Amino acid sequence: MTDAEPDPYAPAAQAGVHRLAIPTPFAVGRVNVYLIDDDPLTLVDAGPNSGTSFDELQRGLESLGHALEDIEMVILTHHHIDHLGLVGLVASRSGAEVAALDVAVPFAEGFTEEAQADDDFGVAVMLRYGVPEDVVSALQSVSRAFRAWGADAQVTRVLHDGDRIQLRDRALDVFHRPGHSPTDTVFLDADRRMLIAADHLLGHISSNPLLTRPRDGSTGRPRALMTYLESMRATREMEVDLVLPGHGDPVTGHRELIDERFRMHRRRAEKLHGLIAERPRTAYELAQALWGNIAVTQAYLTLSEVLGHTDILLDEGRVSETEDGGVVRFEAME
Ligand SMILES: [Zn+2]
Repeated sequence: MTDAEPDPYAPAAQAGVHRLAIPTPFAVGRVNVYLIDDDPLTLVDAGPNSGTSFDELQRGLESLGHALEDIEMVILTHHHIDHLGLVGLVASRSGAEVAALDVAVPFAEGFTEEAQADDDFGVAVMLRYGVPEDVVSALQSVSRAFRAWGADAQVTRVLHDGDRIQLRDRALDVFHRPGHSPTDTVFLDADRRMLIAADHLLGHISSNPLLTRPRDGSTGRPRALMTYLESMRATREMEVDLVLPGHGDPVTGHRELIDERFRMHRRRAEKLHGLIAERPRTAYELAQALWGNIAVTQAYLTLSEVLGHTDILLDEGRVSETEDGGVVRFEAME
């Protein structure tokens, strides 16, 4: 950044919300952790569980005049390991309360078992939607290795949709916004028209509607993108001027951004419809047709994208699924 460019996070900092960009080993790059300089002294997310990230978090807090031990509350935005990984360690070092939405509690408290069950679900989904076995097993190894960046965190304050977290100088209203993950939670400071949105709304990239194992015992495929679009419609109605995301720079003009996302998802659904109309294809073949040869690490993300958009087409009655030998193909109805 040069002197000529104002710090996009300056307005948040003036309101006592300080962004710390913590490194991650993932393609997404750094993750935004927020220190809310209030009473209780509050951290929103903590970064992935690694020595490097922990060091940077400590240094970042020190540069703001605080020690890690001073943290009194950690709020979790969702259960993904780049956000959750260090929460347990920060809480044990500081004695901080850990606040998380009810649906995030099992993920946070039983990270290892939950991650394994999610992987098993992912394997079954990938095979069913045409991902080759060698790609599936390679991705499994990657996923197991990445699990080292996650860790359990005991939740001491269970939040519910519609709750209010009262701090000395501000109130944060809690809203469940599933889609990117089933646990996505946003925190609204209505007085300052500021929304801590984490990965629910990112400025520089569209959030992936990651296909996640249903936790209600249902066996059907969850419709992550449909859920996400509904969540974005709810956020679009909110009166906010500044959105603080989980990665990258803050977002101003959230309605324009959300409308742009709606248009992008519509375009992508139409593109997929065109490909399916040419001939029946698996979701994996559709992903390849859209993005060419996909890196192994991206196989599940791109599959989630494709299935999200075929859900829109299925919902509109424009495609159907046919299963043959355990593998699903999409076929055009019009
Ligand atoms: Zn995430």
